[in-house]
Amino acid sequence: MNFSVLKLYIDFIVLFVLNYSYLINKFIVMNYIVGHKNPDTDSVISAIAYANFKGEGYIPAVLGELNNETKFVLNKFGVKAPILLESVSDGDRVILVDHNEGSQTLDGVNDYQIIEILDHHKVNISFSNPINITTKPYGSTASLITEKFLESKKPISKEVAGLLLSAILSDTVIFKSPTTTDKDKEFVAVLLEIAGVSDVVEYGMELFKKKAEISSKTASEIINGDFKEFDFNGKKVGIGQIELIDANDINPKKEEIINEMEKINNNGYFAVLFIVTDIMKEGSYFFAVGNKESIFKAFEITEENNYKQGVLSRKKQVVPVLQNSL
Ligand code: MN
Ligand code: MN
Repeated sequence: MNFSVLKLYIDFIVLFVLNYSYLINKFIVMNYIVGHKNPDTDSVISAIAYANFKGEGYIPAVLGELNNETKFVLNKFGVKAPILLESVSDGDRVILVDHNEGSQTLDGVNDYQIIEILDHHKVNISFSNPINITTKPYGSTASLITEKFLESKKPISKEVAGLLLSAILSDTVIFKSPTTTDKDKEFVAVLLEIAGVSDVVEYGMELFKKKAEISSKTASEIINGDFKEFDFNGKKVGIGQIELIDANDINPKKEEIINEMEKINNNGYFAVLFIVTDIMKEGSYFFAVGNKESIFKAFEITEENNYKQGVLSRKKQVVPVLQNSL
């Protein structure tokens, strides 16, 4: 073969490969598994663990920066963070974990792109297509995924067991939350063994210490760390929550936080509520801006006496109250 023929040959191969990869990129269908905006540990871990359960072709993704607790968990069990999903192409398919409301998912995702939902929150959706929906009133989405592994007799790796265990403890506030079910406890017992974690309470406290590290955080980071938007009978209400080992830790930042809440509230909210949960006292302090009187009234508290003993769960003890009273 003379030189020019060889060159032509190589040119042809290069051209072919370039075009081929272009075509693949254009037409390949991605299946993303994604948790809610302002990701918490349960939503991130659920995406990773469910992708592991489903096998090849499923990509775990997140919609925002990971919190300290989640980073700690991934690091402890040597698992890399999911990709940050900023947009999806027309052909992509999406599985939602740990949420089902449009306001909590990736902007721009269409109805027909969502092929499955796995969640433990109230269902607030309607779809134009039939899709797979698994919702159970468990303490975490990670519990639902653990159940899927156990029912299908698929082995759970040590890493995935550690992740699932952490997500269940995080979402159930080490079983203190009223959202906790016997199933959650049952699954944790199985996962502890596989993950090789010996003391569940000790590990749970280690997790919450990471979550409660707020001294280095700005007011905006504190509120947005776990902030969800709800529609209560046409009224847009934002509810943030933080779980602390000692709720007094919030005091130095209180003023800054209220200012930040006012800023959020100016974006068309009816009210913005921030719940500071003391996991040792097992109760919560309520801070509100906007139509705050209706919020305080709903919980039979005042701005001055804003503590509710026994309230730990936004989902089970806060959202239903506002749904019924606003
Ligand atoms: Mn969540
Ligand atoms: Mn959850």
